[in-house]
Amino acid sequence: MARFFRRSFGGSASSSADYIQSNSIETIPNCPRLSSSYRSAIVEAKRDTANYRQSKTQELVDYVCGKLHIPSVRVVVVDTPCPHSTKDNGRFGGGKLGHYKHLGNCAIEIRIWNLTAMKGQRRAAKSFFETAVHELCHHIDMQLLGLEKSLHTAGFYKRIGDLSRRLGA
Ligand SMILES: [Zn+2]
Repeated sequence: MARFFRRSFGGSASSSADYIQSNSIETIPNCPRLSSSYRSAIVEAKRDTANYRQSKTQELVDYVCGKLHIPSVRVVVVDTPCPHSTKDNGRFGGGKLGHYKHLGNCAIEIRIWNLTAMKGQRRAAKSFFETAVHELCHHIDMQLLGLEKSLHTAGFYKRIGDLSRRLGA
């Protein structure tokens, strides 16, 4: 667990090394066969509340971390609209769907917003699942790959695709 707590997004000295490593790894290393039932419990569910999705996403994250032999991370799903900005014409100007964040006091969380930015409706299950896998891949970067900074490289997006497929997407 000590390793878990030392990881951070800081440390620019190693950023370029992190970038090169992140970009060169296209699959989740040493990943065993994974069940598709955790994805199904989110994507095929009739329920889409924050409470339901938080519980199912926590199960998914605990399961994958257990399979990879890394510490898990707390998942928080909130029924509030994704933080976003609007353009002068009132249209969507960009925002975020989730984050993987150090909170201080050694705590780390995956947070996912369950409502769409503009209309405040519950997000489509597939989009929600994609955000969950994206944030989980940040955690895997730091815990499994040992990166000090988890960057949005082309390799990172390939690992997201790899993990999604392994989970049945
Ligand atoms: Zn990201």
